[in-house]
Amino acid sequence: MNFLQCRFCGFWLQTTERICPNCGHRDPLKPFGPFWKIFLVFLNLSIFLIIFLFTLISPVYKVNPLTFFITLCSVSSVLFIIGSILDKQMKKEKITAKNYLKSDETNIHSRIQEITSRNEKLNIVRNNIKEGKKTDKMKSMSLLIDNAEQLLMKYRGRYEVELWKIEIIRWKNSLEPIEAEWTKLDYQGCIKRMEALKKAIQAGEQLKTTYTENTLSKTPDGKAALKSLKQALAVCDRFYEGLTARQAKLAINDVSPVDETAAKQEVAQNQETHENLFNAKSDVTSFITAFEELEGEFDRIEAEDKLSL
Ligand SMILES: [Zn+2]
Repeated sequence: MNFLQCRFCGFWLQTTERICPNCGHRDPLKPFGPFWKIFLVFLNLSIFLIIFLFTLISPVYKVNPLTFFITLCSVSSVLFIIGSILDKQMKKEKITAKNYLKSDETNIHSRIQEITSRNEKLNIVRNNIKEGKKTDKMKSMSLLIDNAEQLLMKYRGRYEVELWKIEIIRWKNSLEPIEAEWTKLDYQGCIKRMEALKKAIQAGEQLKTTYTENTLSKTPDGKAALKSLKQALAVCDRFYEGLTARQAKLAINDVSPVDETAAKQEVAQNQETHENLFNAKSDVTSFITAFEELEGEFDRIEAEDKLSL
């Protein structure tokens, strides 16, 4: 199972992938081809070549070479422009996925912005209440605002943690090509993978520190996200051990070849136990489902008028 990067966003994908779960583009692995540009200009050149050959042979039709080439160039340029427009159009249509990480990420950012502006409005009302007389009605309004604010802050936190989750998925995705078919690596291959793994672990540890320092790590959602990150880091450590063991064995094998059948058995075992250590794709699917639930919940509390102001 080999991994290649999506040409639109750099997400690592299996070679069989038809749609990128990160950016939603169709055919994320096909190389960019200026297909229409080349096709139209080529067609144009062939037609002109035929006309030119025809006029060369024909005793009746003689063309002025200058006029001929000017016409050829202008028609080619027009076709080139048409080709570029067609290419652009084709690229535009390429986002086919209904749900993908980038669109959810955009939604999260706009939700957070929405919540922030609502909070600002609440603060203005709160200031007006403070300045007014402390009647019963004012007190109950103040209570209402406190509740609404608490609810908003809770959801703001939850949406922010959703951004963590996306970050963790992308980080896990960077581990997938490092893990791919590692049980078949040779000595040099092991060294390269270990270098890449060390960098990935560093990046993961960095995320862990950032999240732990954030107060959201105390919320149930934050705790869960951090836990999944820690679990993945623990898998990384085990994977590091595995790679080291393989490297050591390969180094020893250079000196004394071991029993072939035993080696084969071990490879088979490794493949069973280490298949998909970091399955970012299934993480994307569960993220999207959970995110839809959160959105539904937020929409519901909005509809229930708990936040209307
Ligand atoms: Zn992509």
